[in-house]
Amino acid sequence: MAIIKLPQSVIMKIAAGEVVTGTFAVVKELFENSIDAHADEITVEIQDGGKTYIKISDNGIGMSEDEILLAVQPHTTSKIKDVEDLYSIHTYGFRGEALAAISRVSRMKITSRRKSDEIATAVEFVGSEPINVKKVMAPYGTTIEVKDLFFNLPARRKFLKSSAVEGRMVTEIIEKFIFATNVGIKFIKDKKNIYNIQKDTPLIQKINTVFPETKEEDFFELNFEENWYKIKGYISHPRVTRNNRSAQIFFVNNRYIRSGELFAVFEAGYGEMLESRRHPYGIVFFEIDPSEVDVNVHPQKLEVKISESKILYNAFKRLVRQTLLNETKFKMQISIE
Ligand code: ADP
Ligand code: MG
Repeated sequence: MAIIKLPQSVIMKIAAGEVVTGTFAVVKELFENSIDAHADEITVEIQDGGKTYIKISDNGIGMSEDEILLAVQPHTTSKIKDVEDLYSIHTYGFRGEALAAISRVSRMKITSRRKSDEIATAVEFVGSEPINVKKVMAPYGTTIEVKDLFFNLPARRKFLKSSAVEGRMVTEIIEKFIFATNVGIKFIKDKKNIYNIQKDTPLIQKINTVFPETKEEDFFELNFEENWYKIKGYISHPRVTRNNRSAQIFFVNNRYIRSGELFAVFEAGYGEMLESRRHPYGIVFFEIDPSEVDVNVHPQKLEVKISESKILYNAFKRLVRQTLLNETKFKMQISIE
């Protein structure tokens, strides 16, 4: 067997597949970039689950023409300079590979204007190559359009799920951003308005919007603070449950994380108060000293390493239990009747 060195273009496409695992991953990366660019109004539009069209517009700091052209190059970032910076990170991005990866496997158009510039620049890319650079009139901020994901990787395109499934995964990502940020978010799916969240809407109202079957009274607030961590959010009354864990949404330093251990700890706090095979709602934010968290363990950043996770998880379980005991004594009696 002959060993060959892969051409750069092949290496890049393989790497792109790791970042771009579905249309939701594109939306996630672009949305995070908008937040990192200090936007406070973000509009997301998708068609066919994002398979044919994704558009994200923000009112963030924008980019110059040179910055647009640099941003789609691999390993270009404005967010860190050194590996040490990872331990004091306050932005979502740091790998500098999302735009490179997405543009590599789509037809991308970036239109951007900095506040201080009079005119915007629009650049069209095909497979990361700029094919057209124009000056256009546009409001300040950045709009990124992604068309025909994986058009140049037909085998990979086949692995995209149906428009319905891809679209649902995008919706779920948007919901996480609705909870995790205070920005205004519009979400449009196949020309239909799905969400229109005003900037600074209180969390409990957002929860009731995303889970329209719930009411404000179904939830109890968590608000707990120790020297190196905080636990905040809302958990549902033990009788307000689902048959799956889709409403258990946890964030560490505002990053959504999926952790079997956290699900288990959360429900252990409910203990015998839960009917079997029912799962409560919990939208919970853990704020931890950045020096105690390693975010650089998962390519999609869905996992983080917390150095004292045992202590934190135990505190969480106790907090859930204590909150439910305090809050439900009276209400449980009524609901038993
Ligand atoms: P990362 O987010 O890890 O830095 P990306 O490939 O996602 O890498 O983005 C590369 C760079 O492009 C960012 O560091 C930022 O400077 C710029 N950029 C991307 N999206 C935006 C945006 N919406 N507004 C302003 N600048 C952006
Ligand atoms: Mg990024």
